[in-house]
Amino acid sequence: MTDLFSKKIAGIAPYTAGEQPSDRSYVKLNTNENPYPPSPKALEAYRSFDFGSLRLYPSLDMRALKEAIAKAEGVSPENVFCGNGSDEVLSFCFPAFFDPEEPVRFPAVTYSFYRVYAKLFGIPYEEVPMLPGFAVDVQGMTAGRGGAILPNPNAPTSLELPLAVIEDMARAQREKGRVLVVDEAYVAFGQEPSAATLVPRYDNLLVTRTLSKDHALAGLRVGYALGQRGLIEGLLRVKDSFNSYPVDSLAIAAAAAALQDEDYFRLRRDQVVRTRDFFRQGLLERGFAVLPSSANFVFARPGFCPGRELFAALRRRNVLVRRWDAPGIEEYLRISIGTQEEME
Ligand code: PMP
Repeated sequence: MTDLFSKKIAGIAPYTAGEQPSDRSYVKLNTNENPYPPSPKALEAYRSFDFGSLRLYPSLDMRALKEAIAKAEGVSPENVFCGNGSDEVLSFCFPAFFDPEEPVRFPAVTYSFYRVYAKLFGIPYEEVPMLPGFAVDVQGMTAGRGGAILPNPNAPTSLELPLAVIEDMARAQREKGRVLVVDEAYVAFGQEPSAATLVPRYDNLLVTRTLSKDHALAGLRVGYALGQRGLIEGLLRVKDSFNSYPVDSLAIAAAAAALQDEDYFRLRRDQVVRTRDFFRQGLLERGFAVLPSSANFVFARPGFCPGRELFAALRRRNVLVRRWDAPGIEEYLRISIGTQEEME
């Protein structure tokens, strides 16, 4: 069978997402989903959607969605690019901004999809070793000739870099005329402001976001990027060489409505943050080592048994968390924050 694959696909190890089982009900703390339902305004947008309009392709410029994002972010719609989840937006960054002659850099412990995208698009990469305590080596990130990409807060470590440090990286990348992509999937749960505030000053800075976590819309598949017009144009070129309509009409309507409901967003975010801090404290008291979290998950190492054993024991009790057999993190579990009741 595989001899029919292209050489590239035959040689690729795809990203493995956390399981989405439907056989029974689990306490599902393995994919950083939001434990609460999305905004009722998103549901209302679905209910009042003109179903007959589905015979038409979606809006080419996704105007309603871009306007809602622009308003929420204080930018202009032309600084916004939307995609089918931020994974799609991140994947487009590789052919848009990185070249085979110059390795792209990302932290050694980070979102493992970057490695897969680099391989898929034939971009060499350098994994920048972590400093003690899983800190990102900021100088190392910008020491190469090529582009750089990192999540802030980082995943799966949950650690956040200050905005001033992100700005230093953007500046260092601009001096060589290369792009910095900051993946802000978890930014809403941290203390630092978004790097979107730097976009007007750095033409080489692209910030990506998702509605999957902080807006509880993982199933809708909507993500976006914020950047100056040049970078947005780069992403549009990739999109229009791939799929003219990555976000469907229903998703455009529901996502726009959810983004307008800022009170609901804050309410749910604050609930998750409170539960996270409660849960982290509880783990510390029980002998875990837990990194300080700026995300909707914690990265924790049990002091009393191997990570692998705790992972299996939890699964037997219908609690799903995430763990990787990767060097340096094999003793850790990444535990998404559920409802207060689930975490208790
Ligand atoms: N970036 C990071 C760091 C993530 O953990 C995730 C979620 N797996 C994503 C991006 C992608 O999220 P989505 O495609 O749902 O927007």
